Amino acid sequence: MTPITTQTLENALTAKLMVSFGKTAAEATDGEMMRASALVLRDMMALREVETRQKARQQHARQVHYLSLEFLMGRSLMKNAYNLGLLPQLREALEHLGFKAADIFEIEPDAALGNGGLGRLAACYLDSMTTLEIPATGYSICYELGIFKQKIVEGQQVELPDNWKDLGAAWLMPKPAETQEVRFGGTVREFWDNGHLHIVNEDATVVQAVPCDMEIAGYGTEHVNVLRLWDARSTQPVDMSLFSRGEYLKAAEDEAMAETIAKVLYPEDNHLEGKSLRLKQQYFFVSATLQSIAAKHTELYGTMKNFHEKNVIQINDTHPALVIPELMRILIDDAGMDWDEAWDITTRSVAYTNHTVLSEALERWPQSLVEFLLPRVWQIILEISRRWQKKVEDFYHDPKKTEKMAIVWGGQVRMANLCIAGGMAVNGVSGLHSEILKKDVFRDAYGMEPWKFRNVTNGIDHRRWLSEINPGLDGLIRDLTGGDDYLLHPQALKKLDDYADDASVLERLGAIKRANKAAFAAHAKKTRGVELNPDAIFDVQVKRLHEYKRQLLNVLHIIALYQKLQDDPNAITQPHTFLFGAKAAPGYAVAKRIIRLINSLADQIDHDPICRDKLQVVFLENYRVSLAEQLMPASEVSQQISTAGKEASGTGNMKFMMNGALTVGTLDGANVEMHDLLGDENMFLFGLRADEVEQLKREGYVPQRLYNRDPVLHRCLDALRTGFRDGVRYDDLYQRLLFGAGGSPADEYFLLADFQAYCQAEKRMAETYRDQTAWNRMSLHNIARSGVFAADRAVAEYADNIWHVPHK
Ligand SMILES: *Cc1c(COP(=O)(O)O)cnc(C)c1O
Repeated sequence: MTPITTQTLENALTAKLMVSFGKTAAEATDGEMMRASALVLRDMMALREVETRQKARQQHARQVHYLSLEFLMGRSLMKNAYNLGLLPQLREALEHLGFKAADIFEIEPDAALGNGGLGRLAACYLDSMTTLEIPATGYSICYELGIFKQKIVEGQQVELPDNWKDLGAAWLMPKPAETQEVRFGGTVREFWDNGHLHIVNEDATVVQAVPCDMEIAGYGTEHVNVLRLWDARSTQPVDMSLFSRGEYLKAAEDEAMAETIAKVLYPEDNHLEGKSLRLKQQYFFVSATLQSIAAKHTELYGTMKNFHEKNVIQINDTHPALVIPELMRILIDDAGMDWDEAWDITTRSVAYTNHTVLSEALERWPQSLVEFLLPRVWQIILEISRRWQKKVEDFYHDPKKTEKMAIVWGGQVRMANLCIAGGMAVNGVSGLHSEILKKDVFRDAYGMEPWKFRNVTNGIDHRRWLSEINPGLDGLIRDLTGGDDYLLHPQALKKLDDYADDASVLERLGAIKRANKAAFAAHAKKTRGVELNPDAIFDVQVKRLHEYKRQLLNVLHIIALYQKLQDDPNAITQPHTFLFGAKAAPGYAVAKRIIRLINSLADQIDHDPICRDKLQVVFLENYRVSLAEQLMPASEVSQQISTAGKEASGTGNMKFMMNGALTVGTLDGANVEMHDLLGDENMFLFGLRADEVEQLKREGYVPQRLYNRDPVLHRCLDALRTGFRDGVRYDDLYQRLLFGAGGSPADEYFLLADFQAYCQAEKRMAETYRDQTAWNRMSLHNIARSGVFAADRAVAEYADNIWHVPHK
């Protein structure tokens, strides 16, 4: 390959502006220039993608199919230019053509087809699968609207639609020739022909699934994979016979159904949404995906009998669980196999990743809904369920265990049990989480089939989350490790440990952080009008708003600090800025109240002269990937304070660590593994451990006792009732903590139990901060040991232990 120069890119951009928009560079808007840049890079990737695909076909390589209802991609322009090794050239070309490169990157909308960690994980894994040269495809829905845009109006969250496709569609390559048909409803008819039993789904509503492919470039490789996003269309042309028979409304209904399927991403994170449309989305995406995989496989091999040898299907949580009965349907009804052969192939093809132990997030569908929407799939689920149940009975002879492990039970279909029965592997996403699955949530399944259970601790794309977004730190790492080796071998970061006593390195690390804070402050001032003091500790909690993540514990501590400052204005010498970012699911009332509380408190503190240059609280609206990218390099403290046992892994924790922030956290999720690497001396650990939480729950937890015993806690909870200068009172939250509400027990997430320990951890942190050399040393150790949290490591583990595919 001849290297692509700035001049070549400049010419390509000029030509693209002309053919796509009929404009010269002088006439083009920033938006048009962004789209032209995307199209130019897309052309380059399309070429490589064809070559990658041909190579995989020639080699008859095993293909990985990664199915996820969510891919939180964020922006792609800088990322793709980076991976293609063209970032400096693209910057220069844009400047030569009279544009500000930073403005072009900034105008790109986030492709936010996901809620939080689960969707971002899928995006990071696509990058690693491609960089490791694994023939892999991601599959999801091409939602018209991604996760809502959050506005804060009078302290409260307001949701606005996210029309990302206006500019974002430049990355998409529609492939209408590969359209699939997905059937809903109707009836199942069986008939014999030539000694064969045929099964057909008649009078179904057919929805067309049109693939829109997004190319994914790897780093340091010519390998390009795709993310296939399915768009829904009604069967065209509109059914004229229905019109002429006077069934105008039915025709219109079919059309409406098709159009709503890909309309919007469900905005619930870690929460089951039992809506019929959601089940339609799941089946639509699963059926289209499997039909497309099966068609390509049959074309290449002429049979489905070796499907499992050439394909592996990884499902990201249970959202795509219908792959199991759908693959059975294709093998039996379309390929003519008998049950046992089809089951053998299915159970060697599908692997399941569990992402949560929260019972409100475990998917269960009413059997009546499944039966009505998917009559053939329902028959197959019933048969899977019947056989699985028999196997459990024969193994345990215990009706309690039969009930717990059942797939269809009490009028519901339990998707996690379906995945365990039909999968070849089940993995949790951190060491602690995988242990909890084996010992508790899936204990009986583990007892019966222990070989299925694995752990793969999550990871993040360190090229995006460190090198691309934090050029200052990237420069230091290159200087200290002797080049860019760490980009493909993240364990090379370990070499930084050798500089723990090098004063000039520690000073430089501090200066990089300080510059990143100033840059973030300038950006926040420009885009949000908030004034941040770059000399304050940047103490950050950004993640979805959820009670188990305990943003409210953070708030209680800030209230305590504020009250201390009121008693003694000299109680704080080191300025301290608390930054929050979080979206709440629109229907999650408590989460929305907590957002409002953060804003009430921010306003109160902002208007109190005592707090000036000492204490500040800022709620950053619309937390998303592109905001995280600006914030991580500037963060000093990472708040990872979930109730132990509840956060499956976390990946935000890893982004912070890699950028040198120190963690204040509980022993939960991947924090446990961070602690193993760092020791007590390099993070601020506090609070109950997972087993202690369980024990306290068993013994009977009475938070009022803590309230009565601890005057600091007492006073800060009372502040919730009294309310703030904006006149808003939070008696509801107070009641929830002390007495419980709406069926949930008092202080369900043990905030009060951990309050004192948390305050002490924050105090230790602030004291450590005074010694900047010690702080920078800890920061250095965090960066040095973050290499294991690279997605490359996680994906290599999936490839070696579950997919059995070779990789770079
Ligand atoms: C990484 C990331 C998350 C996950 O954060 P956790 O702290 O692990 O929950 C959520 N949202 C966005 C935008 C992210 O980039």
